[in-house]
Amino acid sequence: MGHMLRQYELIEKVRAYDPDADEALLNRAYVFSMKAHGAQVRASGDPYFSHPIEVAGILTDLKLDDETIVTAILHDTIEDTVATHEQIEKLFGANVARLVDGVTKLSKIEAQSENERAAENLRKFLLALSDDIRVLLVKLADRLHNMRTLHHIKSEEKRRRIAKETMDIYAPLAERIGMYEMMTEMQTLAFKELEPDAFASIARRLDQLHAGGGDLVSRIGLGLQLHLADHELEAEVMGREKHPFSIWKKMAERHISFEQLSDVMAFRVIVDKVEDCYQALGLIHERWPMVPGRFKDFISTPKRNGYRSLHTSVIHDSKMRIEIQIRDTAMHAQAERGLAAHWAYKEGRPVDDVKVPWIEDLVEILDHADSPEELLEHTRMAMYQDRIFAFTPKGELIQLPKGATPVDFAYAVHTALGDKTVGAKVNGRVVPLRTLLDNGDQVEILISDAQHPQPSWLRFVVTGKARSSVRRFVRHKERDETIELGHKIYDEIVGRLPAPLAAEALGRAIKKLKLDDVDALMIGIARKRLTDEAVMEALMPGSVGSDIAPRPSAQRQAISIKGLTPGVAFSLATCCHPIPGDRIVGLRREDESIEVHVIGCDQLASGVDADWLDLAWGDLSDGGTARLCVILRDVAGALGEMAGILGAQGANIVNLHLAHRDGSFHTFHLDVEVHDLGHLHALLAALRSAEAVSSAERL
Ligand code: MN
Repeated sequence: MGHMLRQYELIEKVRAYDPDADEALLNRAYVFSMKAHGAQVRASGDPYFSHPIEVAGILTDLKLDDETIVTAILHDTIEDTVATHEQIEKLFGANVARLVDGVTKLSKIEAQSENERAAENLRKFLLALSDDIRVLLVKLADRLHNMRTLHHIKSEEKRRRIAKETMDIYAPLAERIGMYEMMTEMQTLAFKELEPDAFASIARRLDQLHAGGGDLVSRIGLGLQLHLADHELEAEVMGREKHPFSIWKKMAERHISFEQLSDVMAFRVIVDKVEDCYQALGLIHERWPMVPGRFKDFISTPKRNGYRSLHTSVIHDSKMRIEIQIRDTAMHAQAERGLAAHWAYKEGRPVDDVKVPWIEDLVEILDHADSPEELLEHTRMAMYQDRIFAFTPKGELIQLPKGATPVDFAYAVHTALGDKTVGAKVNGRVVPLRTLLDNGDQVEILISDAQHPQPSWLRFVVTGKARSSVRRFVRHKERDETIELGHKIYDEIVGRLPAPLAAEALGRAIKKLKLDDVDALMIGIARKRLTDEAVMEALMPGSVGSDIAPRPSAQRQAISIKGLTPGVAFSLATCCHPIPGDRIVGLRREDESIEVHVIGCDQLASGVDADWLDLAWGDLSDGGTARLCVILRDVAGALGEMAGILGAQGANIVNLHLAHRDGSFHTFHLDVEVHDLGHLHALLAALRSAEAVSSAERL
């Protein structure tokens, strides 16, 4: 590449269409980017810095505002240099920082796109991500410049990948927002890389056409104009040669050879009035034979976006077909008004005023949609505005509603994954499960077989799938636990009977009690719908009143944890104070010590570098220290009452302090030794029922 756009040239270009552009801002960006990229070089051998400047140059051709130009100059600094978001925000303002972030995010997606992912999805994703269309414009200009310099890349595989991506994703995006010139250049460059032979033969054939008689397009165009003028019809005629890729596409679609494909030229005839359109059509058909089946009258029947014109193809003198569109000046202005114009700097208005909300863009895009399919696609796109797109570590795209959390993400991937979620890494950082996901986030779900859906998730999940999975699990779990509890009580009851139970006694009892099955009996027992005596009578008539053995008492056991190598040292985390019954996870840090945390502990977010161990309590685990926050009313004897309740519940206070005093309430933090989660819950319930206690919670 020869000439690199200089600082003053770039600024001149911007000032030519926007005299009010912030020159100092542009200068600052130029210097900042040059310093940041330093000695980096491109595959071409040019200083890397030439790339962002050229990208900015492309955008000046589109007459974009100074913020967009500055964004283009800075677009690779966050990704490829030591520059930070904070620096950019400080030096160039929040808008530019946000735009640069947007482009950086798009580039990251691009980097991930090596693996299989539907181009269609990616296109939608990129559109959804570009909540400010300027982000997309910078990205497209970036891609265009990379395509212009593609031949410098040595690896053919890499060149082909970039070219294919451009063809599948970026060229259609450019088309979508009305950047036809950009689309054409991208397609031509990509086509050249992807189908070098086809490109060469089409280029050769086009050259031959040119060699046949100078500028054929102008000659034929002039001929058209003169023919109309002969009949006193004044018309402006514009001609263009179709570009190689569109010629090739036609050849591919219609299974024809270049020789058969003779319409490589298209002409536009622009006249003053509607009547003149039909007159011009008549004159053209009179002079050159029309190609059957190619005539369309979009004036009497406009396209649904309002497009009007007459389309026809005729066989020109040299047996060459040409395509002709005929329209009046008003129709022409309407057809030419592209979305891009919307973004261009206009009449001294700062672009922030010009900037319209997405939905207005959408209306604009809809205006330009050519077919119902396209409309449908755009309508779907509108839906994506309240959607976000996140990635699995393998690059699979997951669509979620805005406000979705890692738990929603996990359930969207698979129900089994959601059920076992204990933590999540977003972009490599461990985050709390209630974190809101953002577009482009890469989400890794950390799982544990000990985990189950948590009722607390219902407070933050937003997807129906997550919500219903948690609800279903909670319902089933409650039932399972109730039945299990019922069995325990039942065994006790049976143990207290004066004689061993006959094999068929249970079945008889269920019938006698008019219950459906064993589960129903156990639920009835657990929920205290059936008294012990009623059950005993049903099992063994006449047994009530005889000697009944007392209930056995629980035995205190030590802590054991499943999932650890026996003998390995671990400690219960002092941030969340796990007790048996809590769902737990282990963090193994570099120094090999294992910290056991409650799943859902906020401190897990700091476990970025730690290994996550899937843990569960041993069956006989008993005993732990729970940290409570108890708010007492300022009444005489309140503290004594609390101590009394704890004592009666068999819970030992190991630490107590007054956290703060607020008028008539005293907040205490206390560490209490309990057996397990069930014990703790009973304890909290007893505290809450006390007169002196305003509230009691686990910390
Ligand atoms: Mn770039």
